[in-house]
Amino acid sequence: ELYNKVLELKGNIRVLCRCRPLNNEEIAGGATMAIDFEYAKDGELTVKGNGAFKKVFKFDSIFTPQANQAEVFEETAPLAASVLDGYNVCIFAYGQTGSGKTFTMEGTEEARGVNYRTLEELFRIIKDRQGLFRYEISVSVLEVYNEQIRDLLVPGSQSGVTAKRLEIRQVAEGIHHVPGVVEAHVNNMSEVWEVLQTGSSGRAVGSTNANERSSRSHCIHCVMVKGENLINGECTRSKLWLVDLAGSERIAKTEVQGERLKETQNINRSLSALGDVISALATKSPHIPFRNSKLTHLLQDSLGGDSKTLMFVQISPKENDVSETLCSLNFASRVR
Ligand code: ADP
Ligand code: MG
Repeated sequence: ELYNKVLELKGNIRVLCRCRPLNNEEIAGGATMAIDFEYAKDGELTVKGNGAFKKVFKFDSIFTPQANQAEVFEETAPLAASVLDGYNVCIFAYGQTGSGKTFTMEGTEEARGVNYRTLEELFRIIKDRQGLFRYEISVSVLEVYNEQIRDLLVPGSQSGVTAKRLEIRQVAEGIHHVPGVVEAHVNNMSEVWEVLQTGSSGRAVGSTNANERSSRSHCIHCVMVKGENLINGECTRSKLWLVDLAGSERIAKTEVQGERLKETQNINRSLSALGDVISALATKSPHIPFRNSKLTHLLQDSLGGDSKTLMFVQISPKENDVSETLCSLNFASRVR
């Protein structure tokens, strides 16, 4: 009974944990696993610290290193119908750099991730509903880096000279908008693929080290849906946010200075702001601190209320990463 009550409280927030496999190099180097998946089917995960301790975590679902992209997508697929039904949805990937956030969200050309598959599912359902509903879909791709919003669909937006300063404005009660942001209209999956590619290349351009930069920024896809019920004329507007978060690893303040220190502080601030918002929503706190970061401010309309939130907590299986893994799992337990 107590358990039911807890689930009820956390209603629209689901937390899934995914562990990446060891790679060949790690296997060759004799890396040991710190995670036990014996009870993964029951949503339980055990972290072992070289025999010294054991800690159990519970999630809505757990994906072992063997889980493939299709199995992972199965859990998120129903959210595509929710968006078309008029609900706002946010899907996040959280975790240290190298834990598989981008693999889960973006995936690779051979093993496409949640972003592509969710859009594919949207278009599949739209086709199914043809004659009953009419939909218009557009996509924006944004990056939040150092508390600044950048439009990845605008060529050259990374350079300080041509960059448009994007700001969040409240245009009506409960409706926030970023004026000037590109909203690419898409009619089919080949147009979606083009937009996703443009977004990815926009992310890489202008940084001396694309990986480095991408681990320090949040990459955000916003899918905007306008729906019209052709029978009764009812219209809906909803948004699906797909967010590949900045790496959650802790960096010792003594190791970084200047620009890098500011960057680190901004990442910590926005990730903890996200945790604060989600846990405030989960406990139905009267005050939800949306304004504490650009990320939560941007997503404000789509967090809480009857919106649906899904968080992937990505972890590494390696013994060497166990302290970051514990941090990520603790973060996730806080929002769950
Ligand atoms: P992050 O975005 O969290 O920094 P990545 O998604 O880039 O991490 O993953 C790091 C590396 O591990 C990449 O080479 C990626 O392809 C690989 N990887 C991550 N998760 C998986 C998985 N579930 N199966 C196979 N390879 C994975
Ligand atoms: Mg990444």
